[in-house]
Amino acid sequence: MSATENNPFNASWTYDKAPESTDHIQLKEQYELFIDGAFVKPLKGKYFETINPSNNQTIASVAEASSEDVDKAVHAARAAFDSWSTLSGRERGKYIYRIARLIQERAREFAVIESMDGGKPIRESRDIDVPLAANHFFYYAGWADKLAYAFPNKTPKPLGVAGQIIPWNFPLLMAAWKLAPALATGNTVVLKPAETTPLTALKLAEIIQESGLPKGVVNILTGAGATGAAIVQHPEVDKIAFTGSTAVGKYIQKTIAGTPKKLTLELGGKGANIIFEDAAIDQAVEGIVNAIFFNQGHVCCAGSRLFVQESVASTVIQKLKERMEHLIVGDPLDKNTDIGAINSTKQLETIKDYVEKGLKEGGEIYQPVCDLPKKGNWCRPTLFLNVSQSHTIVQEEIFGPVLTVQTFRTIDEVIDKANNTPYGLSAGVWTQHGAKIFHLTQQLNAGVVWANTFNKFDPTAPFGGYKESGFGREGGLQGLRPYLKFN
Ligand code: ADP
Repeated sequence: MSATENNPFNASWTYDKAPESTDHIQLKEQYELFIDGAFVKPLKGKYFETINPSNNQTIASVAEASSEDVDKAVHAARAAFDSWSTLSGRERGKYIYRIARLIQERAREFAVIESMDGGKPIRESRDIDVPLAANHFFYYAGWADKLAYAFPNKTPKPLGVAGQIIPWNFPLLMAAWKLAPALATGNTVVLKPAETTPLTALKLAEIIQESGLPKGVVNILTGAGATGAAIVQHPEVDKIAFTGSTAVGKYIQKTIAGTPKKLTLELGGKGANIIFEDAAIDQAVEGIVNAIFFNQGHVCCAGSRLFVQESVASTVIQKLKERMEHLIVGDPLDKNTDIGAINSTKQLETIKDYVEKGLKEGGEIYQPVCDLPKKGNWCRPTLFLNVSQSHTIVQEEIFGPVLTVQTFRTIDEVIDKANNTPYGLSAGVWTQHGAKIFHLTQQLNAGVVWANTFNKFDPTAPFGGYKESGFGREGGLQGLRPYLKFN
């Protein structure tokens, strides 16, 4: 008997395979750098491999940009700046709309490649990442000719060349979050995707080329930390927008201290998800699952610390365990998959280390019984009970499908516990009382507080953190500001 058959919760929940087809996608064996409107070989001739984390097979080899390539890209962006920044907002907007529409046209291809390169379930890349990326371009295209209305009585001016460095958890979406407001405000860009997930940014470069965007306005360089550091250090870059780990964010902040470069940082998080006794419990359980298991927990705003009011704790935990038994872990390209592959073997090791630490420090672990594929990077959805504020797994960001569960009795107690973290990115509140929601949104020290939902993203809403989660906002009218100066 298989583990699945053994499991009473799973008895009526067997699915046939429903793989998304891959025959419509076009991938090259080797990808070059996108500089000054053309795909060019890296000056030092170095390449690295990008791997499919669900089977550890190489998908393609990708150019590694050296500091000389960075220099070339920054010069291309600088040369393009004058004409791009003085083009009318209406004309800039047209290009951005075109990019949005081209993403929509190739949405299936983008979704499949995103899932192959990063490991996320196709359901998420198809229904969330790709549509949201297109929506971001649509939304900021709309602002391009309305900047004077966004900032009345001011004269907003673009900053110049923006260096943008993005992580591996939402590769296309983060590229859209970065590029759309920068272009709408008249800046030119050098963007670097993460080394484990470069493919959708390179596909986006193809779309940008197809859109006829003037050359040099967007340059896309692939490479690892050294490439990112060269962008940060380049003297002709006027602004750095970084999304990634708090450690690298702090390093970037130190590097550019004392220079005129502007900076926005969107860093780590350890979001509190708070369930009150008056919440709709079944919906809250779905919300807990979405908060922590969405994208394998590779989400900076994940609800990784669950706080349940004591009176409903046993019910919530029981229902959560039952729900976890039904989560399907496996092939990212299967349309039934809930939890895909962990993005890299390095990240899997990090998660495993935290799980071991949790056990060593006395936490009580719960993982559902489920079969995992033989090859690839996999982690079962994991709960830790019997943990307190002092446990490492309660304090540190794990960036994986691992949830800590604590209980509380009063509102003041849960506010104290939720805010007792160096981070301040997100939180969630589940209650049927509006007054409680308003009270908590004021008291919780988090850039985003979701009420009776979690991990909801919208291009019109600002997103960003406090404390070690960074500063600056992306999305909404607020997302224009970091790319503008006002005289
Ligand atoms: P993680 O630890 O989760 O991989 P990182 O913060 O290291 O997150 O990565 C986020 C992005 O920052 C990636 O594109 C990565 O290549 C880049 N990066 C890593 N180190 C540096 C650095 N020293 N300077 C600039 N960018 C960096």
